[in-house]
Parts: sequence; structure tokens; C-alpha cells
Amino acid sequence: MPRGLAIALLLGSAVVPCANAAPDAVPVRADIQVRIDPETRELTGKGAWTVPPGESLAIVLDDRFDVRRLEVDARPLSAATERDGRRQWRLAGSERATQHIEIEWRGLLDPLEADLDHRQVLHHVAPVTAPRGTFLPGAAHWHPVFVGRALQYTLTVDVPQSQRAIVAGDLASDRITNGRRRLSYRFEQPDPAIDLMAGPYRVTERKFTGAGSGAITLRTLLHAEVADLGAGYLDATERYLRMYEDWIGPYPYGSFSIVSSPTPTGFGMPTLTYLGIDVLRLPFIRDTSLGHEVLHNWWGNGVYPDYATGNWSEGLTTFMADHTYREQAGPDSARELRFAWLRDLAALDAGLDRPLREFTSRMHGSDQVVGYHKAAMLFVMLRDAIGHESFDQGLRSFWNEHRGSIASWEDLRTAFERASQRSLAGFFAQWLNRAGAPNLRLESAKAVRDADQWRVDFTLGQDRPAYQLRVPVVVDAGSGPQVHWVDFDRERATFSLRSTQPPRSITLDPDARLLRRLAPGEAPPILRRAMLDPTTVTVLTGADEAGAALARRVVEHPLQLRSPEAPLPAAPLLLVGLERDVNRYLARHGLPLRPAELSATPDRATAWVWTAARPTGEPVTVVSARDATALVALGRPLPHYGRQSWLVFAGDTATARGIWPSRPQSIRLDR
Ligand SMILES: [Zn+2]
Repeated sequence: MPRGLAIALLLGSAVVPCANAAPDAVPVRADIQVRIDPETRELTGKGAWTVPPGESLAIVLDDRFDVRRLEVDARPLSAATERDGRRQWRLAGSERATQHIEIEWRGLLDPLEADLDHRQVLHHVAPVTAPRGTFLPGAAHWHPVFVGRALQYTLTVDVPQSQRAIVAGDLASDRITNGRRRLSYRFEQPDPAIDLMAGPYRVTERKFTGAGSGAITLRTLLHAEVADLGAGYLDATERYLRMYEDWIGPYPYGSFSIVSSPTPTGFGMPTLTYLGIDVLRLPFIRDTSLGHEVLHNWWGNGVYPDYATGNWSEGLTTFMADHTYREQAGPDSARELRFAWLRDLAALDAGLDRPLREFTSRMHGSDQVVGYHKAAMLFVMLRDAIGHESFDQGLRSFWNEHRGSIASWEDLRTAFERASQRSLAGFFAQWLNRAGAPNLRLESAKAVRDADQWRVDFTLGQDRPAYQLRVPVVVDAGSGPQVHWVDFDRERATFSLRSTQPPRSITLDPDARLLRRLAPGEAPPILRRAMLDPTTVTVLTGADEAGAALARRVVEHPLQLRSPEAPLPAAPLLLVGLERDVNRYLARHGLPLRPAELSATPDRATAWVWTAARPTGEPVTVVSARDATALVALGRPLPHYGRQSWLVFAGDTATARGIWPSRPQSIRLDR
């Protein structure tokens, strides 16, 4: 079941992969007490689990812990087996009887390393602690996990008085005795494992009356240096809750909390989100990522995706959060986002572009393009096809029917079919099961005078096998641009449109409403291509050590290094080095030098990054720096700028950036 996952940080969203448990099986009930000492890093745990009748199952615990006691119905359970750093016990199933298990364990947590970067945090599943912060992800097996069974729990955490701890669920009590604080939480929604966070938090709290009957408690648990952000975050949370309650249905829990982390994380769990201190300071987190995480309480943590047949929750959340906020800002803003998604898709090597159905969770940038952006485009096209009213009605009935259980893409399709009274089998089949995207071409067009009217005849083409598409074309006549939709399901077809005014031009899908592979002119080169394409060849020229370290941070696959003396590779090129050496290399190979856009900058510029396309089509990405220090300074910021075509840096700050203009597929008709 989906712990889900995460926040769109600069580059995108993070994901905690987690053990799948079927929420449909009868859950195990647990009553757990843990004591954590961030100074000594010691954890002591004790708990009682009630396992309803059922099949045998495994109990798994990280092997850093010593087990003091493990009894099933008051009898010790036989020795554990060890595998992959985990200790595992087999609990024989019981057909009729409920089993009672008691376990006591203790051990040492890892020290918290605050300087991990976002990608490392994503892959780091050890339980860590320090006075600055404690993070025990459920996937790290810091408490006994009953594999394949979900958990309903009461959990009491005992921490030093200056600290506060939080897990998913509602706070039942918060008491201080003898310098220790004991917080009890209760969570009734079945969940496979518990994520626990603690730190020297300041709490801001308010009540919110939701669309359902009960009051919802909103809280921020923040480090002192960001505590003043609390009220603003609660305002935003309230706004998002209202919006989604109105759109989908009542918020399914009794609380929502925003918790700060000393590491640059972004995680979302039911009822809370855990965000890095520096992340919380970024204004766009409150404006977009927070809403995305709030919405995951409906999609992902309220209705669970069926991982076996594909994860729809990221795409639907991206559509209803990120894309919706852009639509609220205006049509240009939303179109810019859709174009960015299509540019990312165009930057994706064909081998990485998988069918949407195969997406389960994000571990690489390419998964994000498929699982988030392709899927979000599916919902853009679906709403265009069936209309806003049917779309919203389909969403609400999907929520009502599947809340608290697993649902598949097919369940979504059924809900939208019922709401729109039409078959969507072909629509979902082609967008879920096919890799890649249509290559759509506006092949020819002409204007014909027809009595006192005008006619525009135009031909569309696409690759084989043809997709069934509803294609928007825009005819610009005297009265302004007019959108027409045509059904196109063959490899080539000619269409006629009428116009009362003399038409000036016809343009294919200028609003990016279709999931499609942009034509070369429509997709200007961006940095992400070099980051994702495993055929990219890296050439270092000057300050090789700093250059190699930077390239390794930017590129998501093993580097293919080539000497600057070797001939120019017939592949995408990433050139990293010092200004003088870079210029010499570019000149020697007849490659374009630094574009004028990057030179109109003040003297304090220390590095320039740009993309270009060679006449043969291969993209070139250049990182040129004044000195080795300037290269090192790019290590942290540059990986976050995959969507840009060019940037200028002063140290680690981007002082200018841009995307090369894209040329839509358009034909002039008035010549
Ligand atoms: Zn997400």
C-alpha cells in the first residue's frame, strides 16, 4: 500500500518505496510503545499485536535491534532467520483463532547526516536520529513489520521533553513527566508500517471545520528557524482542504500536519508531510507542492493504486494539483506547464519511455516523465473529451466507491464511462498500454475561396499504428484565432474547415492539449536530455576532477567519458570544463560558441550552461566555468534545472536562464 510519496521538490517528487500490504485483508491491531533518546541514539520498543485468523506470515525487523522477548500466545517463537540485514520470523497461521504476539526490542539508530542531498535521502532507508531530528521510515523496519498485513495502531512515543514526535494518525494525548514527553497517536486506517519523525519542534495549531461533520486539527511542527512560517502554511493547507473537499468529497482524516526535517527531504504520508527546512522556505512549496501532498490524502493514501496494474495516483494528483494551480493562474501558465511536460518527453530516450501502465513509483527522472507527466496529460485529454461536468462527476463517484481500498486504472475508466455515458476502452487502452506518444504532423494546408466564404484544406499525418486522436487546430482569420477539433485515427487524412474571414494561418495544437512527441522545431534542446539519455558522451576539458564530479551529479546514468583529443562523437554530447578550453574545443569541432543571450550578463558571472543542436541533430550541452571553484559551485543547483535550455551562474546562484523558443507546427495561408 502506498506510502505515498512525496513532494515535488525542484526537480520533481520523491517517493518512499514501501512494502505492499493488501488493505483488503483483515488488519493486524497493534499497541506499541517506543522510547527514543536522540543523544545516545538508543531506541527501546515494546508492543502487543493481535493477528486475526488467516494464513501464515513473516514478521520482519532490522537486524540492528536485539529482540528481548517474542511470544505468541505466551509461548516463545522459534529463532529467526537472517536475510539482507533483516531478521525474520515465521508466524504459523491459525484458521480460527486470533493470535496475540508480544515483542520487546532495542537497538542503536544511525546518526543523522544533515548534508545528504535529495537523491541520497530518497534511497536512504536507515532509521536515523540526532537532537536536530529523528526519521524512522517504516521501510527501514524499525518496528516489527507483519508482511502482507496492514496495521491499525495505537503508538506511544517517549522522547525528551524538549522534543516532539509524530506519526500518521490523530494525537490522543501529550503528557510531560520527569523531563520526558509521551505522545500517543491512534490510526484506524490500515497501513503497512509506521513512519516516525521527531525533533525540537515548535507547534502551531488550529481547528478547521471540514465538509464532513468533524473538526480537523491542522498543525505545523517546525524547527525554531522556520517556526514563523507556520501560520502561512496553515492558511494554505486550509485553502487546499476546502478546494479538494469541494471538488472530491470530505477530507478522510481528523488531522493534517506539516513537519520540518533537517535533511532536504520531501515526503508525504497519510495525514502529514515531512519537508526539509530549506525546502519549506521556498515560496513555491506552499503554492504547489503542499497542495499536491494534501491531495495525496485522497489519491494514493485514501484510495490506493493497484501496483500490479499501474499507479494512476501520481498522474491524477499532478493533474488536479500542479496543473490546476497553473490553470488558476491563467491559460498561458497552464499551457507553459504542458509544453514543459512535452519537452521532457521529447528529451526522453525512446528506450526509457515505457507504457504508462508499467509505472509504479518514481526512482529516476524518466519515471517522473512517464508516471507523472504522461499520466497528467491523459487526464487533460480525458477532460477535453468528456467535458468538465462528466469528469468531476466521475471523480466523485470513484472516490465514494473506492475510498479506503485499492483501485485500478480500470476502476477509474469505469467511473468516467458511467459519468459520461460512453465507452472509453479505446482511449485508456492506447494511452496506458503503448510506449511512446504519437508523432503528429501538420503536413500541408491551403486556403480556398468558396463563394462568399473561405475553406481551409489541411492534411494531418501520424506514424503507424495510428492513434485515435481528437486533434485541436487553430485557424487564425481576421476575427482572431479559432479552435477546431478534428477526429483523426488514420496515418494520413485531409480535413476541410470553413471560415467567413480570409484565413491567415493554421497551427497544430498550439496549446499542447495532446500527449504527443514534439517535432524537432517544437522541442528546443533542454538540459534534461543530457541528464536522462544514457547514450550521452561526456568530454572534460580543463579542471577534469571538478568537471567529472559535476557530471556525475548531473547525469542520471554511468558516465561515458571520452578524451577531448578524440573525434567528435556521433552521439549527444556533454562538454564540461574551463572557459578557455571549452571555447577551444568548440572552435576546433565547428560547434557554435556561447550564445549571445548568455553574454549579456554582469562581470560577476562565473559559469555558463547552454544547449544547442548540431546540424546532424545530436544535442550538445556545454558547461563552461571561469575556474574549478565555479564548477564545484554548480554541483548543488544544476541538477534542478533540467527544464532549462541555458543558464548563467554567479557561484551557486542562477542569475539568468531561459528556454530556446519553440516553433509550433504552423502553415501560413495568406500568401
Ligand atoms: Zn505525488
